[in-house]
Amino acid sequence: MQDNFKIIILSAPSGAGKTTVLQAVLKQIPELAFSISATTRPPRANEQHGTHYYFLAITEFEQLKAQGAFVEWEEVYPGRFYGTLYSEIERIQKEGKIPIFEVDVFGGISLKQKFGKQALSIFLNPPSLEALKERLICRGTENAVDLEKRLQKAEIELQQKSAFDIIVENIFLEKAIEEVVFHIRKFIAA
Ligand code: 5GP
Repeated sequence: MQDNFKIIILSAPSGAGKTTVLQAVLKQIPELAFSISATTRPPRANEQHGTHYYFLAITEFEQLKAQGAFVEWEEVYPGRFYGTLYSEIERIQKEGKIPIFEVDVFGGISLKQKFGKQALSIFLNPPSLEALKERLICRGTENAVDLEKRLQKAEIELQQKSAFDIIVENIFLEKAIEEVVFHIRKFIAA
C-alpha cells in the first residue's frame, strides 16, 4: 500500500440508499474507484462476481482470513460474512485512484480506526426505521426472515452514527448525493 493515500468510507444500514448514492458519486468523481468486497452471501439476480462482490464459499473466505488478506471483515448478518481486501486497495491505488468502500457501519468504524486522518467516513442517515423497512420491501431482494434480520441490525447501526466524520441525511436523494459529493471533493482537495 502507498504511504500517503486517502480512502473514502460510505456506511449506512441496509436499505438506506447507499448503493444508489455510491453509483451517483462514482459517476461524478472520476478519481474514485469502488473497492469490491468479498462475501459469502449468494449473488442476487443482477449481480456478478468481480463486479459487485467476490462471491466466495465460506471455506474460501476462511482461507483468506487466515492469510491476513482482509483489512476488516464482519459477520454482518448471522452466517453472512463480508470483508474488505488489501488487494483491492492495492489494485485501485495502482490505477492512481482513491478507493471508496461501501461497508456496514461496524466495518466503517474499523476502517476509520485503522486509517485515521487518511480516511473520510460518511454515514448515510435514513429518515426512519419505517422508511428503511418500506425501501427493503420495495427492493424485494430479501425474504421475510432476512428482512427482519436487516431491520434488527439497522436499529443497532443507527446508534453508531456519531462515530463517523460526516452524517448525511438521506431524505431527498438528490440533496444527499450533492452533499456526499461536496464532502468527498473537499477531502480529496485538502
Ligand atoms: P448486501 O448484502 O445488501 O450487499 O450488504 C449487506 C451489508 O454489508 C451492507 O451494509 C454492505 O454495505 C455491507 N458490506 C459490503 N461489503 C462489506 C465489507 O467488505 N465489509 C463490511 N464490514 N461490510 C460490508
